[in-house]
Amino acid sequence: MTNTVQASIESTPPDQTRGDLKLPIYLDNQATTPVDPRVLEAMLPYFTEKFGNPASRSHRFGWAADEAVQTARTQVADLIGASPKEVLFTSGGTEGDNLAIKGAAYAGKARGNHIITVVTEHKAVLDSCKHLETEGVQVTYLPVQKDGLIDLDQLVGAITDRTILVTIMHSNNEIGVLQPIVEIGRVCRQRGILFHTDAAQSIAKAPVNVTSQNIDLLSFSGHKLYGPKGVGAVYVREGVRLSPIIDGGGHERGMRSGTLNVPGIVGLGKACAIASAEMSKEACHTAGFRNRLRDRILGSLDGCYINGSMENRVPGNLNLSFARVDGQALLMGLSDVAVSSGAACTSAKLEPSYVLKALGLSDDLANSSIRFGIGRFNTEAEIDFVADRVIEVVSQLREISL
Ligand SMILES: *Cc1c(COP(=O)(O)O)cnc(C)c1O
Repeated sequence: MTNTVQASIESTPPDQTRGDLKLPIYLDNQATTPVDPRVLEAMLPYFTEKFGNPASRSHRFGWAADEAVQTARTQVADLIGASPKEVLFTSGGTEGDNLAIKGAAYAGKARGNHIITVVTEHKAVLDSCKHLETEGVQVTYLPVQKDGLIDLDQLVGAITDRTILVTIMHSNNEIGVLQPIVEIGRVCRQRGILFHTDAAQSIAKAPVNVTSQNIDLLSFSGHKLYGPKGVGAVYVREGVRLSPIIDGGGHERGMRSGTLNVPGIVGLGKACAIASAEMSKEACHTAGFRNRLRDRILGSLDGCYINGSMENRVPGNLNLSFARVDGQALLMGLSDVAVSSGAACTSAKLEPSYVLKALGLSDDLANSSIRFGIGRFNTEAEIDFVADRVIEVVSQLREISL
């Protein structure tokens, strides 16, 4: 028996290495990021000796947990220019989007029943809006231009006197483009309409300031900024009220019940503190690598197209389409590299990304697209390896199909 177990353990392929590189190379930092070791270190005591429930007011176990949560609340608030009492903790970005959108729609019923969003939003936003449509809310889905950005005039034109909420993401998860949220916020503020932004992809990558950007509601997620999964935060501007979507003990100012995930919240706070200190340095690092990858690939291959605006984009994202290449074959050829493809396999059928389709791409170019997500822990050697692999695989596939 021992031998069988031993054999089966040994039969799982060991991590491969090539030179100094450990394969596969992780270049999918828009899907999730590893927890920063400094974040993990901050979290660990809150699983064991500091395990208290912050809602316990009568003993020091509770007080210690509550203090840690308040520290984290301040760290989150500082990163986005908010005040700590405007920060609510959630189970992640999906819950945050649901809470902000449904909570604002339910709380704003007396004022109106119209929401404006954009076709390229994350499913957490789109499906929250679709849910509200089944309850009689009207939703306008704005298109995007070829570069992935909305047309502000179309936003202004879509506003009615029944509009209560505009929800438009800051950075897109597939193509990384940054929507003009300063202008969107200004338009909304002038008309007394709430502005929510899903900032899961921009927090810690691009400057976010809820005051100068006129943001009323903002949601994001721990695991996109080197924090843990299963925790996130929503910023709710002072004076704005959300109807809760989870009822219970009245935690988080009555807007989000449930015992707080203290270790997760401590990790999220630490991740935000690191971002506050290191964001500008890190942006240079990831943008430099991103541009290096782009320049090497585009310098060696023709028929490659960049999806989304290069000017208005988070630093670590590159999304490329390759003409005359089969998307599945391309992904298979890049098995040493963890990336995402613009083709999603839904029920065994290849579905081109709705984001890329919204930019006007053909099914073929959407299916042959690759999202490269460069993050904090990538190295120049990894970037060069990936560039070489992409050039090699695309060239080979094109030769075969000749
Ligand atoms: C990841 C992500 C979410 C969802 O966050 P989770 O914490 O994974 O639920 C929502 N919106 C965007 C833009 C994201 O990238």
